[in-house]
Amino acid sequence: MKKVLSFDIDQTLNIAKTPIPDEIAELLRDLLGKYEIAPISGQKFEQFLIQIVDRLKDVGTTPEQLEHLHLFVAQGTQYYRFSAAKNDWEQVYNFPLTDKQVAEITGAIEKAAIELGYWEADKLQPGDEIIENRLSQVTFSALGQKAGTEAKYAWDPDCKKREAIVARVKELAPDYEYEIGGTTSINAFVPGMNKVFGMTHLLEELNVKKSEILYFGDMTQPGGNDYPVVQMGIDTITVRSHEDTAYALRGILGVYDNK
Ligand SMILES: [Mg+2]
Repeated sequence: MKKVLSFDIDQTLNIAKTPIPDEIAELLRDLLGKYEIAPISGQKFEQFLIQIVDRLKDVGTTPEQLEHLHLFVAQGTQYYRFSAAKNDWEQVYNFPLTDKQVAEITGAIEKAAIELGYWEADKLQPGDEIIENRLSQVTFSALGQKAGTEAKYAWDPDCKKREAIVARVKELAPDYEYEIGGTTSINAFVPGMNKVFGMTHLLEELNVKKSEILYFGDMTQPGGNDYPVVQMGIDTITVRSHEDTAYALRGILGVYDNK
């Protein structure tokens, strides 16, 4: 019996980097309370609020329902939960990188991307950045955070550019792990600080067994940022897009409601 539905975000609940669509928001609203809902992604807390929480509020999710939403930020190296009494989010834990680690990773990625001709600083929008310190990980986004979705999809559809950057960065800064995610991103972190870390803490914090979680992700192939969850032996549904996820969630709600 599943107690927790856990989700990758980009391309699992949304079109990468955009707020979740109405249909997903309504399905998650209806599932909150029936299941604990636990998105886990490399993104920052602020992005979880914009992409998920604000959209849930738009479709009438109550503060009491939000107490069943668990935000595993930066691959679950940070965990936030909602308190209806305080009407606010509280950080339960945080495992940040040191300044030295951030500097090493940032320097190595920039050098590799420049060498390979993939440093697209001239394509950035004002105020945007290619490498972002997300506290527990450093994230490279080739065209920045604010680039249009189409441009992002077109940049590296076969992951070849990012694979080349990763190969070089591993020579420059071998002490870290690098994962390809989203459409233009590479996440760098201390070994073990991937979704396994987040999932292991999720099991502990929500007091559930592996068999009680169902996970949804679009990058479940070896090397993808959802693969570590598969390797842990957690039941996983591989989706191509949020439309696949919506289809599966409608089925889960239908079965639940007919019990
Ligand atoms: Mg994804």
